[in-house]
Amino acid sequence: MHLYQNQQLKIYNSLSGKKEIFEPLNEGHIGMYVCGPTVYSNVHLGNCRTFMSFDMIFRYLRHLGYKVRYVRNITDAGHLVDDAEDGEDKIAKKARLEQLEPMEVVQRYTIDFHNILEQFNFLPPSIEPTATGHIIEQIEIIKDILKKGFAYEVNGSVYFDVSKFNDSYEYGKLSGRKLEDMIANTRELAGQDEKKSPQDFALWKKAEPQHIMRWPSPWGDGFPGWHLECTAMSTKYLGETFDIHGGGMDLKFPHHECEIAQAEACYGHSPVRYWMHANMLTMNGKKMAKSTGNNILPGDIFTGENDILSKAFSPSVVRFFMMQAHYTSILDLSNDALLASEKGFGRLMDTLSTLEALETGISSDFDVEAWKQQCYDAMNDDFNTPILIANLFEAVKHVNLIKEGKESITAGDKETLTQSLNAFIFDILGLEQKGGTSEDAGKLSGVVELLIQLRKDARENKDFATSDKIRDQLAELGIQLKDGKEGTTFSI
Ligand SMILES: [Zn+2]
Repeated sequence: MHLYQNQQLKIYNSLSGKKEIFEPLNEGHIGMYVCGPTVYSNVHLGNCRTFMSFDMIFRYLRHLGYKVRYVRNITDAGHLVDDAEDGEDKIAKKARLEQLEPMEVVQRYTIDFHNILEQFNFLPPSIEPTATGHIIEQIEIIKDILKKGFAYEVNGSVYFDVSKFNDSYEYGKLSGRKLEDMIANTRELAGQDEKKSPQDFALWKKAEPQHIMRWPSPWGDGFPGWHLECTAMSTKYLGETFDIHGGGMDLKFPHHECEIAQAEACYGHSPVRYWMHANMLTMNGKKMAKSTGNNILPGDIFTGENDILSKAFSPSVVRFFMMQAHYTSILDLSNDALLASEKGFGRLMDTLSTLEALETGISSDFDVEAWKQQCYDAMNDDFNTPILIANLFEAVKHVNLIKEGKESITAGDKETLTQSLNAFIFDILGLEQKGGTSEDAGKLSGVVELLIQLRKDARENKDFATSDKIRDQLAELGIQLKDGKEGTTFSI
């Protein structure tokens, strides 16, 4: 008996715009594809939120007993600057600017991506394929689409014929756009454009002589269009039809719309049963963007080395903060929000140790079974983590009342409560208990504050040997001191 046989999961399907009862194509098995990062810079915190939403979804599906094949790709070619149709490849541009081989850029930022995700306690996907590793598969799909008459070749490039496709299928159904409106809203094509219509998109682009990332093809040397890799890799590993396709909201159009068109042109039917889109992260009420400076790297939050936040926050606190919003809602990051999450996370961890030491009685005042089902109900309702977390705090309240002798709990209920809290907090939300309870953390920070004070005294007495010794030995223990205008702060 698997848990999924008792729990009815509903998923908001972006394609239908409705919450639907989830039924996998093959009982007990799920195929899930999520668009991964383009590895040309350090991973953005907003992207981390998207991937974290799908990590939580992956974790819950596994918890329910499903065997999940989770494919998340690495885009290492074909994604052009500004997501445009013409222009430079994002990775090639970075390689040119830094005088590196493109694959050096790919390697560097793939490692950064994995490193950050590991700190956030992500589970690795089942398969992590790369675009450059699937050039042959992409070429085969282009040949197939050409053969079926939904693409045309011009001067070494191949374009998808959107109008032709729209005669037999429906282009725009995921994003709710109509091709006629798109056409009406675009200006006339400039004379030199090769495409028949501005809505057409590249399946294969001819490489100009200076273009360094290039592969041979039946149409000459070139490189694949960005949308094609996801069709090639998702269908190769999950089949022509698979259960879940996820990604950031910003990918709905044109990326996912084009993926649908490519697969339908090729296979004659829709590739995905449930489309899921995660919403974005803002900071201090504004869109996060490198260009405006309203941006922070995950690593700089963990070390505290940034000008935006008052202190360092652990990956689990940031993860807990992210889980407090539903994955389809916009979430705003701020110093106050992280401080509140840190407090809440500490209370949750404290409750686990309080619960362990709790004395049991002959009856329970707290209906643990009903509470447990409420936690599942929240998760079954399109992975509603904020409601789940509210339920976890309901348990915190009862644990404290039992500790104070105002309520009691039986040994059996205590066991169920302990198991369920552990499952929801660690297995499903993916949080980690590091560095003990918040009480321990409080003691540790007291000790470090004392050393900071002793170091300050030593410096005032011009005893720099002692002050350096305190700083260096703390650094060896992994505790960094940072001298600033308002005194010295530390990060662990
Ligand atoms: Zn994709």
